[in-house]
Amino acid sequence: MAKVFCIANQKGGVGKTTTALNLATGLVMQNRKVLFIDLDPQGNGTMGAGIDKLHLTASVYDLLIGRASFYDVVKKSKAGFDVLPANRDLAGAEIELVNINNRDVRLREAIAPVLSSYDYVLIDCPPSLSMITMNAFCMAQSVIVPMQCEYFALEGLTDLVTSIRRIHTTKNKTLRNIFLLRVMFDPRVTLQQQVSQQLEQHFGEKVFKTVIPRNVRLAEAPSYGEPGIMYDRNSKGAKAYMNCVVELLSRVEE
Ligand code: ATP
Ligand code: MG
Repeated sequence: MAKVFCIANQKGGVGKTTTALNLATGLVMQNRKVLFIDLDPQGNGTMGAGIDKLHLTASVYDLLIGRASFYDVVKKSKAGFDVLPANRDLAGAEIELVNINNRDVRLREAIAPVLSSYDYVLIDCPPSLSMITMNAFCMAQSVIVPMQCEYFALEGLTDLVTSIRRIHTTKNKTLRNIFLLRVMFDPRVTLQQQVSQQLEQHFGEKVFKTVIPRNVRLAEAPSYGEPGIMYDRNSKGAKAYMNCVVELLSRVEE
């Protein structure tokens, strides 16, 4: 059965999509079967996987509201992982789900029949703790939280953890792990070093040992419809994400 990871942080622009796309690619390179679910109406993950969000016949939105099947929606990325793409339509789901029963387990139910065909499912969450994000938490065992080591990094983490605990108690007993991943790291900035150390002291094993540096190749990659690992596998950013994949595998597959 697939291991399901949410990449979540309600702060915007912290590196969720970059992390989700590169981990998906790295896992494919390690011969794992991967499904990438874009749960953000911005559709950045979809575009970054090389799929045009403006020309979709069906998207993850149609799947959530029961208007399409998994096989109507799924696409293949250049990097070799499967994708459930998203676009602006998904913004409407938030309102439409209000009148639907079991609105927070819609995704889980829609994916259940295909879970055994994958080793990993990675869900790229929107920058909010919305019903869409709850759908992701309701089907995951783990949440990876990308964080920039800045002064306000910890702000919001409490809300995130509270949401995860609530879902664990009420809807999804299997949601157990939180991993923090330091991203866009610049070791020359003293404050970043300090915050990074504080994270380690405070959260111990929950913090990935791998640190993702700020690296322009990672930022360039999406405009070519490729995750950074594919776009320039020798870049510092790509190597760091490859190390992160190895660390992830050692943590969850032993
Ligand atoms: P949103 O909350 O809007 O969904 P996000 O958390 O998914 O944002 P990304 O889109 O992954 O964040 O990253 C935000 C911006 O930072 C993007 O332009 C991305 O290319 C860039 N970026 C991400 N990680 C790195 C990195 N390690 N080095 C340099 N740029 C990066
Ligand atoms: Mg994003």
